[in-house]
Amino acid sequence: MNMLSRLREIVDDVANASSFRQALNLLVVNVRAALGTEVCSVYLINRTRDRFLFAANEGLNQSYVGQYTLAAGEGLVGLVAERAEPINLKDAMSHPRFRYLPQIGEEPFHSFLGVPVIHHRIVLGVLVVQQRDERKFDESEEAFLVTLAAQLATLLAHAEATGEVLALTSNDAVRENQLFRGVGGSPGIGIGTAVVMQPLADLNSVRERETENVTQELLIFDRAVESAREDIRRIGEQFGGSLPAEELALFDVYLHMLDDTAIPGDVRERIRLGQWAQGALKQVIREHLRTFEQMEDPYLKERGADVKDLGLRVLAYLQDTRQKKQHFPEHTILVGEEITPGMLAAVPADRLVGVVSLAGSGASHVAILARSLGIPAVMGAVDVPLYDVEHTTLVVDGFCGEVYVNASKHLLDEYALLIAAEKEFVAELDTLKDLPPETTDGWQVRLWVNIGLAGDLSRSLDRGAEGIGLFRTEVPFMTQDRFPTEEEQRLIYREHMTAFEPRPVTMRTLDIGGDKALSYFPIDEENPFLGWRGIRVTLDHPEIFLVQVRAMIKANAGLEGQLRIMLPMISSVSEVDEAKKLIEQAYREVCEEGIDVKHPQIGVMIEVPAAVYQARVLARRVDFLAVGSNDLTQYMLAVDRNNPRVAELYRELHPSVLAALRDVAKSAHAEGKPIGICGELAGTPVGAVLLMGMGYDVLSMNATNLPRIKWVIRNISFRRARRILSRAMTMDDPLEIDRFTRKEMIDAGLGRAIPRIHD
Ligand code: PEP
Ligand code: MG
Repeated sequence: MNMLSRLREIVDDVANASSFRQALNLLVVNVRAALGTEVCSVYLINRTRDRFLFAANEGLNQSYVGQYTLAAGEGLVGLVAERAEPINLKDAMSHPRFRYLPQIGEEPFHSFLGVPVIHHRIVLGVLVVQQRDERKFDESEEAFLVTLAAQLATLLAHAEATGEVLALTSNDAVRENQLFRGVGGSPGIGIGTAVVMQPLADLNSVRERETENVTQELLIFDRAVESAREDIRRIGEQFGGSLPAEELALFDVYLHMLDDTAIPGDVRERIRLGQWAQGALKQVIREHLRTFEQMEDPYLKERGADVKDLGLRVLAYLQDTRQKKQHFPEHTILVGEEITPGMLAAVPADRLVGVVSLAGSGASHVAILARSLGIPAVMGAVDVPLYDVEHTTLVVDGFCGEVYVNASKHLLDEYALLIAAEKEFVAELDTLKDLPPETTDGWQVRLWVNIGLAGDLSRSLDRGAEGIGLFRTEVPFMTQDRFPTEEEQRLIYREHMTAFEPRPVTMRTLDIGGDKALSYFPIDEENPFLGWRGIRVTLDHPEIFLVQVRAMIKANAGLEGQLRIMLPMISSVSEVDEAKKLIEQAYREVCEEGIDVKHPQIGVMIEVPAAVYQARVLARRVDFLAVGSNDLTQYMLAVDRNNPRVAELYRELHPSVLAALRDVAKSAHAEGKPIGICGELAGTPVGAVLLMGMGYDVLSMNATNLPRIKWVIRNISFRRARRILSRAMTMDDPLEIDRFTRKEMIDAGLGRAIPRIHD
C-alpha cells in the first residue's frame, strides 16, 4: 500500500472511532505499524495546566498512559513543542534535552522522531515514534508523520474544546486567570458559578432499525411531539413578561417547525415506510441540518441550531430521558457546547448572570434572547474546556467576547468595579434618547440604525434613532418559500416607513449571493463572495429588481420621510447607470398608476476596492454614498468575513481600510454629496471617533450600540476627534491604532464607553 492510502486509512480510522480514547489508541497502533517502528506515543497539551499528558502509547509501559505528565518545556517532547517543528535524532540519549523517563520504560530507545500537532499556530500535542537501534528515521517517514499530524490537528482541536483532552488528564490545579476567546453575543459583564448543561439527548447514538409496529411508533412519536410543543409553549410563557413581542414571536416560529406540515410530517412519512420513530427522527433532522449548513448566511445558518434543539427535545421524550433537576447557584453562568433557548429557560431568571456557548455566533437564537434579556453572552468560545469549568467561578465579558476561568481575587475585584460602573453608565445612557448627537464644539453627526431582524424596529425607536441607514431587505425574502410579491414587500416596507415617519429610510435593494442564499433561488458557486452577488444578480433579473423598487416607492406614498434607495456591491459605473434607469422606469410606472409619490434618492454602497478609487465619479451620479465596511474590509484584506480560520486577519482598523474610508469621505464631499457608513465599525466607540474625524455625515449601526455612540459623540469635541485621527493615520499596525485610539479616548474622559480590564 502506498503512503497516501495508508495515511488516508489512518485518518479515517481515527476520525470514525467511537471515543476519543479509542481514536488515540488507533492512531498509535496504526502509526507504529505503518512505520514499522517499536514505539509510538501521543503527548497532549493541557493548556489550563501547562503540562503535556502521556495520552496514548504503543510499545511502552501502558500503565502510565493517562497518568504521566511532563512540564510544558520538559524533555525532547517539550523541545518539539517549543520549536514547533519536527526533531529527528539518531541518538536521542546524547541530546542535552533528553530526559530519562524510566517509569514509562523509555531507556533503551535511541532514535527519536517527534512531530508537533499544530492548530491555528498553537501546539496541541506531539506525536513521537521511537526505535531501539540507532537509526535515523528517513525523510519520507518524517514527511509522513508531518502530513498525518497536520490532518489530525482539527480533530485534536475539537477534542480539546469539548473537554475530551482534559477528561483524560489528572487533577492538578487549574492555572489562574485562564483566558478564552469567543465573540460577544450580548454585551455586558457577568461573574458567577459555571453550570455546564448537556443536551437532553444525543442524535448520533440513535441506531436506525426497521419496525413491525408502525401504528405504535406513530403513536409514540405524536405523543413526544405534543410534549415537546408543550415545553416550547411553557418556555415562551416563562419569557412572556420579560421579552418584547418580536422576540416572543421566535417561539411561534419554533412551534411552527413542529406543525404537522413541517418536521413531524416528514418523520411520519419515514415511520410509515417502516423506520422506527427514533431512527426516522434522526434521518429527518440530519437532512434539515445539512440544508442549513449549506446556507452561509450567519442568521439562517443558526436556524439549523433551532432545528437540532427541537429534534433533541422530541428525541428526549422518545427515549424518556428527563432533564435532571439541576441546582442553580445565585449567580449562574450557563455553559455548554451549544446553549439553547430551552436551557436558558431552565435557569430561574433572577439567577442567570451570563451565558457561554462553544458553538454559535451573534446571530444565534440564544444570543438574540440574551441581548433582549440584558444577559452578557459569549458565543463561539470553542476552546473553553467544558469539563474543567463546572462549578468554578467564571467571568463572562460580552463586550470583548472573553471568558476568564479561575479568575484571581484581584481580577474579580476589578471586574466587580467595572460591572458597577457599567450599570450606572447604562442607566445614564437612557437619558440621552431625545438629545442630539452633537459634539462639545457643536459638530452634528446623524446616528441612524441598521434594520434586519424582527425586533430591530421597536428597539430602534426606543433608542432614539433619527433614521434608518440600512434596511437589509433580504430578510423578508429569506423567510418565504418563493419571491415575495410586490404587495407583500410594500406592506413590510410601509410598516417601517410609517414607524419612522418623518425620518429618512434607506432601503437597500436585494443583496443575495455571497453568504446569503434563498432556498428557492439557489446560487451554487466555487467562490460566492467574488461571484454573482448583490446588484449583479438583480441587474440580471430586472423583473425582481423592478418589483422590489416599485414596492419601496409605493410604500413611501403620502409620507414626508425621504425614501433612499441604496445599491449594494457596485463595482463599476455602468451598474449604477443601469440601476438608475430601472429605478426611473419603476418610478414612472408607479406614477402612471396614479399614486402620488416623491422621487426617491439614490445612493451607492462602497463595498469593493474598485469603488473606492471611483468614489468621485460614482458620487457624481447619485444622491449619496454609504460605505459597507464589513464587505470593504473583507475585500481589501482578502479575508472572508465568516471564516473563523482567518478571523484574526479581519481588521477594520487596518491602515489600508482606514485610508480607503478617509478617501471615500473626501471624494463624496468633493462632489457635495453626503457620506455615510453602515458597517459594524460605525457602532464601535473607537470606530465612531475615527469616522467622525474623517467627516462622515451618517453613522448607521445596530440599535443596541446607538446610545453608547451618542454618548461618545456628546462627550468629545470634533477637533479632538480629528487630532486623534491624524495621529492614528500615521500608524502602521491595526492593533497599535486600536490601542492608541483607546488610550486617547480614556485621556479625553471617554473610558466609560469602552469598558475593558486589559489591553
Ligand atoms: C457591509 O458590508 O458593511 C454592509 C453593511 O452590508 P452587509 O453586512 O449586509 O453585507
Ligand atoms: Mg455588504
